[in-house]
This record gives sequence, C-alpha cells and structure tokens, in this order.
Amino acid sequence: MQTERLIIIGSGPAGLTAATYAARANLDPLLIAGNQMGGQIAITNEVENFPGFDSILGPELTEKMRAQAERFGTRFESDEVLEVDFTKGPPFYLKTYGQEYQAASVIVATGASARRLGIPGEDEFIGRGVSYCATCDGFFFKEKDVLVVGGGDSALQEGIFLTKYAKRVRIVHRRDSLRAGDILIHRANNNDKIEFVWDTVLEDIQGNGKVTGVNARNLRTGAAEQWPTDGVFVFIGHFPNTQLFKGQLDMDEQDFLIVDKYMQTSVPGVYAAGEVMDPIYKQAVSSAGQGCMAAISVERYLEAVADQAGEVSG
Ligand code: NAP
Repeated sequence: MQTERLIIIGSGPAGLTAATYAARANLDPLLIAGNQMGGQIAITNEVENFPGFDSILGPELTEKMRAQAERFGTRFESDEVLEVDFTKGPPFYLKTYGQEYQAASVIVATGASARRLGIPGEDEFIGRGVSYCATCDGFFFKEKDVLVVGGGDSALQEGIFLTKYAKRVRIVHRRDSLRAGDILIHRANNNDKIEFVWDTVLEDIQGNGKVTGVNARNLRTGAAEQWPTDGVFVFIGHFPNTQLFKGQLDMDEQDFLIVDKYMQTSVPGVYAAGEVMDPIYKQAVSSAGQGCMAAISVERYLEAVADQAGEVSG
C-alpha cells in the first residue's frame, strides 16, 4: 500500500491546475491521469477563450498545463482509479490497475463524458462512422457527407471544424433555435458547407461495416426520411464521471458531486473540481479555477489536521 498526502484523480484543466497549486504548496501531489491525459480539452481543436491565449490547440494547452504541474514537482501515474473507499477515512483508500493507495486527502477531478443518443446502430458503428470527437476523427471524412447532432457550442464548434474535411456538414437539432453562443452561430451561418436541419431527431443509424445512412424524423410534422450519409458526430452534452463514488459522496439529481464553497464534498478531506461537480459553467477556465480552489482548501485542511494532531499529542 502506497501512502500519499494528496491524490488528484483526473488530468483535465481542473486536475492539472489543482496539481500546480498543490505542488507549489509542497503537498507533493500524485496525479492519477486516467486513460486520456487532459480529458475533454485534449480532444478539442481550437480553444479561443482561455485567458492569455488568443487561440491554442487543446492538446497544446494540456501539455503546457501538464508540464507546469510537473515543473513544481507533481508526480503522474498513467493509470485509472478502479475503486475507492472514502467511508472510513482519512486515510482514504484508492485502487488502480497497478497499485493500492492510502491518501490523507483527495481531489476528484474526473470530469464528464460524452452523452450518447441511445438509438439503434449508435453503439454498433462507434469508430466506423459514429464519433464523439471531430478532432480525433474528422480527418477520416475528407470529401464525405456528415451529420452533426446537437445545438450547443460543441455541435457548432466541432461542426465548423469538420468543414475542413467534409464536403457537407448538416447540423441536426431537435429544436428550431440554438443554444450556442453568437460568435459560433455567426461563423456557422457564414460557412457554405454547413446546413441546419431544424426540429429533427435521428431515429437510427444504419450501415454495412460502416455508416451509410440514418432515419430522421421531423418533430413538428412527424415526417420520417431516410438520408444517406458517411458519418454521425454526436455533441449532445456530457454526464459527470461519478460512478466510482456512488453511495460514498453526495450527488445531485443529475449525479454531479455536491461541494461546499471550499470545494469540499460530503466527506471531509475529499474535494472536487471541474465538470464532475459543475452542471452550470463547464468551461476549461472555470474548471481550472475550481482546481485552484480545491488545492488551496486541501492545503488548509491538511494544516488543520496537523495542528489538531499536534494539540492532541502536545
Ligand atoms: P450543451 O450546451 O448542453 O448542448 C447540448 C445540445 O444537445 C443542446 O442543443 C441540446 O438540445 C442537444 N441535445 C441534448 N440531448 C439531446 C438528445 N437526446 N437528442 C438530440 N439533441 C440533444 O452541451 P455542449 O454543446 O457540449 O456544451 C457544454 C458546455 O461547454 C456549455 O457550457 C458550452 O458553452 C461549453 N462549450 C463552450 C465552447 C466555446 O466556448 N467555444 C465550446 C464547446 C463547449 P436543446 O438545446 O434542445 O436542449
């Protein structure tokens, strides 16, 4: 069993910022990075709203944050947390594929994962025409026809990115007005390769080894149509990665972790930051800010625990 002062779970902007702050505070943090360093931002193409950068690629921003955290002494493990027990701590128990740990404090920064449509054919054709990441898969759709599902910032941003490759991008939205911000709406409207299909949902995805078409239904008229297409990119939001903590940390009705104003969860000594606890803002910069807050709170928590121990032994 390896003993740690602070374990940070997750390597998105929240986890990496928490690591930088914790390392600078001499907490000697260990960051367990999960299966993809950087989380969602690492598979985002261009980031134009992170302070200090006019425009930066998601992977580059991730690498800068990682290197900064490492420079101050953060240790990284490319492993996944499989099991935790926060009910009897501190110390808190964590188990990964490679190791068992006990930690005096924990910051949960496990982020969120792409929501799926849940329609027939979706799971079957993942990686064969169905995708949740334009940056990862856009290249495979040169001169192809693709559909993008969703009406938020992600759908428009990733749809615009896909026009670098695809010959036509149809953005299929279940309503007739977009949730996305004005800048992206303006850019999408001025892009000749983008068409909007309003009030429409996909009912299934068909293919033969790879995607060949979909059945779509107009929710206003009820009319169903079969459309040939080469790809379906789904950007309909995310769900928090909290499955590991069920029954141990309090969650809201959508399974986001509940924290107090110090980013502390329902278990003293366990903190949370980023999209795992934030159903509202969900920005790289707000996640980074929450990571900073969690690390400062951990520092104060560990000091208070040490003071108490000193008083008891003194
Ligand atoms: P989002 O804002 O929650 O939008 C999800 C979209 O998917 C909505 O338009 C929603 O429709 C639609 N949708 C949800 N469930 C659906 C279903 N089952 N079938 C069909 N459509 C469905 O998610 P997001 O676009 O991923 O953005 C998440 C957060 O990241 C937001 O806060 C966003 O501002 C931020 N973000 C910002 C940027 C940027 O600033 N450049 C880029 C990406 C993301 P309704 O509109 O009808 O609900």
